[in-house]
Amino acid sequence: MKVDVAIPRTRVDYLTYTVTEDLNPGDLVLVPVRKKTKFGIVINKSSRREVPGIKNVHELVQKEFVPTNLLTLYKWMADYYLAPLGEVLKLALPSKILKKYELPTEREYKPKKVQAPKPNYHQSVAIQSIVNALKKHSYAAFLLYGITGSGKTEVYIRCVEKVVAEGGRALVLVPEISMTPLLFDRFEERFHNEVVTIHSTLTDKDRRTLWHAIKEGKYRVVIGPRSTVFVPIPGLQIIIVDEEHDQSYKEHTRMPHYNARDVAVARSRFDNIVVVLGSATPQVESYYNTEIGKYQLLDLKERIDSRPLPEIEIIDLREEIRPYISPMLQESIESTLRKDEQSIIFLNRRGFAASLMCPYCGFTAKCPFCSLPLVYHKSEKDEKASLSCHICSHRSPLRSKCPKCGRATLLYRGAGTQRVEDILKKIVTGMDLKREDGTSIVVRLDRDSARPRGSMQTILNRFQRGEAKILLGTQLVTKGFDFQDVTLVGIVNADIILHLPDFRSGERTFQILTQVAGRSGRGEKQGKVLIQTYHPEQYATIFGQLQDYESFYRNELRCREDLGFPPFSRLILLRLKGKNEHDVWNEAEKLHSALRRNNGFQIFGPNRSFYYKIRDNYRVFLLLKLKKKHPQHKLEYLRAYKPAKCDIEIDVDPLEVF
Ligand SMILES: [Zn+2]
Ligand SMILES: [Zn+2]
Repeated sequence: MKVDVAIPRTRVDYLTYTVTEDLNPGDLVLVPVRKKTKFGIVINKSSRREVPGIKNVHELVQKEFVPTNLLTLYKWMADYYLAPLGEVLKLALPSKILKKYELPTEREYKPKKVQAPKPNYHQSVAIQSIVNALKKHSYAAFLLYGITGSGKTEVYIRCVEKVVAEGGRALVLVPEISMTPLLFDRFEERFHNEVVTIHSTLTDKDRRTLWHAIKEGKYRVVIGPRSTVFVPIPGLQIIIVDEEHDQSYKEHTRMPHYNARDVAVARSRFDNIVVVLGSATPQVESYYNTEIGKYQLLDLKERIDSRPLPEIEIIDLREEIRPYISPMLQESIESTLRKDEQSIIFLNRRGFAASLMCPYCGFTAKCPFCSLPLVYHKSEKDEKASLSCHICSHRSPLRSKCPKCGRATLLYRGAGTQRVEDILKKIVTGMDLKREDGTSIVVRLDRDSARPRGSMQTILNRFQRGEAKILLGTQLVTKGFDFQDVTLVGIVNADIILHLPDFRSGERTFQILTQVAGRSGRGEKQGKVLIQTYHPEQYATIFGQLQDYESFYRNELRCREDLGFPPFSRLILLRLKGKNEHDVWNEAEKLHSALRRNNGFQIFGPNRSFYYKIRDNYRVFLLLKLKKKHPQHKLEYLRAYKPAKCDIEIDVDPLEVF
């Protein structure tokens, strides 16, 4: 008999082997690949494929290792994301899967007395709809659209309680590790040690152990970031995707570039279970899906206890002399401090200054490998300055003289979080506010300050306990935190989010502004939001001011329709990259003419990528715009396409088109 076996880390779908035993799809086997022995998963029994010099399966390691519904999901991914099955398995299975493992010991847990909040009317309606769907034990997809602070988490928990009470299991996907501890605590209070979380910071060994433990049904509720969507969970009945619009659900670095939200929906379909996507700012495509009947819309129209949304004011930076913390923002920060309340200040750029420039000859310090300006950083430890590339992390020392004209003054331009931190600390000192232990009441949260293990939690804890009064940070501070004493949110520069040339930038800006504004006024006190911008007329900013998702959505949808962008089409981005600029363009032209013979879609490009050179690789892209119903098998040849002189990266449903 012959079987087809998919092997992780191979650029093929499967290899065919002979076998004497009776093997089934999902079995884990050892097989010879060239001169090595590798493990693989049986995907077809009784294969008819004719292969010269066919070899034997070495050994059956474990029967039913991957459940067949997950195999179906993996095959769907390979097909949809135009990737070999071997690459899908590489992402889906833990590394060194054959190593011995011991199941983790019972975690110590002392149950705390918690009073579960009573759902309000809108929450109850949402819970009831989902619970009704759960009773039917068939596929149903919901979009839980709830404004910030409307209590989505309680809806999730109540539905999961229902599932657990019936002996089922639940999977909760969260965008980033940073959010996991907060959500985890809420779940742990209610599910005690039946809930487990998979952090991205786990070692490979711990990750493997947990994978096996979850597969054996040790936990009822599994919480984790995007790759958790692949973990086998027996008796799974519901998948929840929190903050479904979040970009971190998209795998950007490794192939295939899947979106865990979409994979979760597909998995629910194959498993015949319920999926709930939650957001205060749903992705346009998701909201559109509720209008065409693909998802059912549940909306939470009110904040908990009918708390009002914060007041929002726009500060026109064109009229300001101090562009980082304008006098009006400073005044609000000071009055918030005087009331002993807290502020969150948001700036989407880390480092001290955006770039370093010579005022005489115009020289700008650039990364030698990426053709992008280097960002001026101060060291976290000793304040020493250096220049750093935010794409490849290349660092170079600060020069005192301009390397081009030799003159001695280089100017830094634009502000990052470190520079704003200095300004905020001066404001605080000016008010004579000091803590007895000498620590500052200003804390900064960005990738630099959060780098040492555990420091992110330390920073958030200090703010939570009220020891710090001002939390300054990048996008890390916009995530679903719930600090009751925050009454002021300041957005230092709303325009930085928009600098990328992309059809989604309006949507991104709207999402970030709404999310960060939503951190204000979550307790008893009324909140306030100040947005500084050079383009106060930009519609995203205006709708951000109004906190009016529906108007934003209508406007955005009209633009997408005019331009034929998703949800009115599907996009596939083909990125060619290589060290030799000439070869990359040549290969792009070749691919373009090969694609032209295939009608049924529009081809744009080849064009230079926005980041044209990264890590010494030139990057050129083609964009395919397909009709929504374009038959998938017509793209089949792209899966095996390999340019002769450079690399190719295929991004189906890209979030960024440059
Ligand atoms: Zn670089
Ligand atoms: Zn110069």
